[in-house]
Amino acid sequence: MSQHIPAYHCTHCGRQSLVPQGYCSQCRSAHSYEAFDHDMEGTVFSYTIIYVSDEKFQADVPYVLAIIECPGGLRVLGRLYQPHNRPVAIGQRVKLHTVENGVAIFHNTIS
Ligand SMILES: [Zn+2]
Repeated sequence: MSQHIPAYHCTHCGRQSLVPQGYCSQCRSAHSYEAFDHDMEGTVFSYTIIYVSDEKFQADVPYVLAIIECPGGLRVLGRLYQPHNRPVAIGQRVKLHTVENGVAIFHNTIS
């Protein structure tokens, strides 16, 4: 298991991305992206509850798929573990717990 998701930022303007950009869409610098350490902690920006899934994840339904907004503007798609089927709230604080089979798993930062 890994807890790491690669993150990149423009060394000129600070724009963040999950993939290195050859050309910054914000400041128009070329080849200015480099990797940086990101703690992948943020808030729920949006979410949906999956009841019917691909065969690979069908045993896990229902589960929450959420977009997590991190400081600096990075948005990460991942699954959100809600203990005891607690309702999800927009704006709730979460943190990356692990990455399993390429899927980011977030947990609440407050239990
Ligand atoms: Zn830039």
